[in-house]
Amino acid sequence: MSTNSNTWYDPCLAQKFFRCPPLPDTSVIIVFHNEAWSTLLRTVFSVLHTSPAFLLKEIILVDDASTEEYLQKQLEEFVRELKIVRVMRQRERKGLVAARLLGASVAQGQVLTFLDAHCECFHGWLEPLISRIAEEPTAVVSPRIVTIDLNTFQLRKPVANQLYNNRGSFDWALTFIWEPIPKHIFNLRKNETHPIKTPTFAGGLFSISKSYFEHIGTYDDQMEIWGGENVEMSFRVWQCGGQLEILPCSVVGHVFRTKSPHTFPKGTEVITRNQVRLAEVWMDDYKMIFYHRNNKASAMANELSYGDISDRRKLRENLNCKNFSWYLNTIYPEMFVPEFKPLKFGPIRNVGSKMCLDVGDKNAEGRPVIIYQCHNQGGNQYFEYTSNKELRHNIAKELCLQAETNPQPVRMQVCALKKGESRPSPHQEWIFTQENLLKNPSSGKCLHVKEKVILMDDCNAWNDYQRWSFS
Ligand code: UDP
Ligand code: MN
Repeated sequence: MSTNSNTWYDPCLAQKFFRCPPLPDTSVIIVFHNEAWSTLLRTVFSVLHTSPAFLLKEIILVDDASTEEYLQKQLEEFVRELKIVRVMRQRERKGLVAARLLGASVAQGQVLTFLDAHCECFHGWLEPLISRIAEEPTAVVSPRIVTIDLNTFQLRKPVANQLYNNRGSFDWALTFIWEPIPKHIFNLRKNETHPIKTPTFAGGLFSISKSYFEHIGTYDDQMEIWGGENVEMSFRVWQCGGQLEILPCSVVGHVFRTKSPHTFPKGTEVITRNQVRLAEVWMDDYKMIFYHRNNKASAMANELSYGDISDRRKLRENLNCKNFSWYLNTIYPEMFVPEFKPLKFGPIRNVGSKMCLDVGDKNAEGRPVIIYQCHNQGGNQYFEYTSNKELRHNIAKELCLQAETNPQPVRMQVCALKKGESRPSPHQEWIFTQENLLKNPSSGKCLHVKEKVILMDDCNAWNDYQRWSFS
């Protein structure tokens, strides 16, 4: 297949993978729930077309209680012809963790390779993954993931000779995010054949030695439907002595969707529940940083309504895992860590409008703050008053409320105060006065809601639209 030939990077092409001692073989496990026929089969055929026979033991399709008719008998009959492909059924909808565990429990390969059901493997994708595990059995390895266009379903091939520049991160709402590899690390990279250490992984596409998967505690089998399991596994692998890597010579396409296509039979609260479970097991006191930003999670933690985690805690103990502070200091020193105990935190309510200060968008840098119905969930209405007198919104980035009079309205900007410093830039300093004004001392002006726009204005303690309560 010429369109799929690996011509994009010579050092990857030049890599040799020796069969002596023999490389382990792999079971490819693809879980799905109501996946389209075409994307599911595209995934299967691309695995068959690109994987050396001696490495590919089998393909296991695990159906997480799909309701679509074509995914029943028709699918089974179709893949029977392909000999090494089989279908397993999870009768009750449980989610991707249970489905992957079901696949893993019957897998016969020495390595497990998980793929989403809407992928296309690029020629040469499998060899680097398998040989890295043969070399380092505690490595949990992901391919370089390229985009399959959501509308045209075209695979966007890597640009020739351009070094891969992404790794996995997370924010303090415990969402997985991509980030560019920091300069000082990127500059050490000589070529694409070297593994990239990554603090977290996307978790849909990866290979792991089957015995190491079992040793390290597979998954938290009480995580339901979708979400959180990749962050859980990231922390666990690093804290318990493994390593998470991206191998850029291994390329797989994936359809990234703009919103989740799945139904959540018990509501989307299961995502929060999964996150609370992982925070309780792996994050020690740092879990508070998460709870401050997510009120539902905090309530769940207080009510102990996230299920039993004693087995997972025992696992952590048995494996002698390091603590979360070790993870942050050693594996992810670039991660910003907010204050454990800011002077105040939560929503900031305007007395006059009875509404709350809101950053408006997840990606709030440079945007005007707005005033919005108080929802008391944290998120976009989360602020903290730091010991350095800044008003921070710091879930993904360190953003500060900036008292600018020109241009108005008031915006969120990257915090000027860096680690170890103690005086914020004059524009980012706030005093919460006795009259409940939010005053910027350098300009002498106060935060004011005027016709639903947030401005800096001459202070007036009699004006309720300048008075704020920070609960
Ligand atoms: N999946 C599943 N059951 C669920 C939700 C997801 O089997 O309840 C499958 C889904 O079909 C896909 C994989 O799990 O193959 C990962 O889900 P998805 O692709 O939606 O996650 P994303 O890539 O968007 O993070
Ligand atoms: Mn996916």
